[in-house]
Amino acid sequence: MSFNLNALLRDNIKKLVPYSSARDEFKGEASVWLDANENAFGSPLSHDYNRYPDPLQHQLKHKLASIKGVPAENMFLGNGSDEAIDILYRAFCTPQVDNVILVPPTYGMYEVSANINDVAVKKVNLTANYQLDLDGIAEAIDPFTKLIFICSPNNPTGNSIHAQDIETILVNFPGIVVLDEAYINYSKHKSFTKALAEFPNLVILQTLSKAWGLAALRLGLAFASTEIIEVFNKIKPPYNINQATQDLVLEALDGVDIINEWIKATVAEREVLVAELAMLEQVEHITPSDANFVLVKLANPKGLYDYLAGQGVVVRDRSKVTLCEGCLRITVGTKTENKHLIKSIKTFYSNL
Ligand SMILES: *Cc1c(COP(=O)(O)O)cnc(C)c1O
Repeated sequence: MSFNLNALLRDNIKKLVPYSSARDEFKGEASVWLDANENAFGSPLSHDYNRYPDPLQHQLKHKLASIKGVPAENMFLGNGSDEAIDILYRAFCTPQVDNVILVPPTYGMYEVSANINDVAVKKVNLTANYQLDLDGIAEAIDPFTKLIFICSPNNPTGNSIHAQDIETILVNFPGIVVLDEAYINYSKHKSFTKALAEFPNLVILQTLSKAWGLAALRLGLAFASTEIIEVFNKIKPPYNINQATQDLVLEALDGVDIINEWIKATVAEREVLVAELAMLEQVEHITPSDANFVLVKLANPKGLYDYLAGQGVVVRDRSKVTLCEGCLRITVGTKTENKHLIKSIKTFYSNL
């Protein structure tokens, strides 16, 4: 298969002349900045935010590059992964013409973003053990299929998708394969970042919202070829990552050691939680998880959900989702939170 990025891009994006900001047009050193209509006095805060931020976040990307082992030029930063997902649709999918393939049960945002962009969705369900249906995907692909979204470890099931199957799609599909690795830090399997050079049609999504504990700052990452990253940069709003986020994330990235400790603690707690749940006769199945949550099939999921909510413990009811019938998705909390959860579940079932 030969990959042709130009054949995939929407015509309007191929022709697009991106916005040229004041910070794009002058990059040298200066002491008087009168080019961007900013307020020269400062901000009514202890820290000034009166100047527009670096549109391409060079300092932040440089630091992320050393942590992630991906060159800065192969990196796009978005206002959450949501922004990267939306840009993929706007770059590649002509509304009412092109389509994408989703493999449910999976992350809901891929479909919402398709709907917002008026792009058709073809669904090829995962198999009973939550792996890719390669034959079904091959059948669903048509000349207008531009994107295939794969989430691994998958949300809401928690399992990893076989790397061999992902490679099969990368090799055979002439469109873009979007691999969402939001939970990769919790996985025993390795990231696909090292395979970027091998697959020109691979876009990897990661986020600082999960293992890095920075969900409120909204920082999503996309890794891809420099050609695809250039397309992302053309489409994104000029100053999509605000200065406060850039500053705070730069500081947070010094905390690799504590993040690694929290990952280990979360994985250890996940196994405790799984062991506790497995002992309950009302628990029918627990999907082996590579993430910071577990999908549990159990008796009376809605009743349990409501009871837990009444106890102030909120989990995710997935019991009506295709292939997740009867399941709750439970995020791994602190040791104390997990104990509280297990105690409440036991109380609920003992009172039935
Ligand atoms: C949580 C999550 C994300 C992260 O989204 P952000 O917009 O970066 O917070 C991305 N993908 C999946 C599958 C997720 O579960």
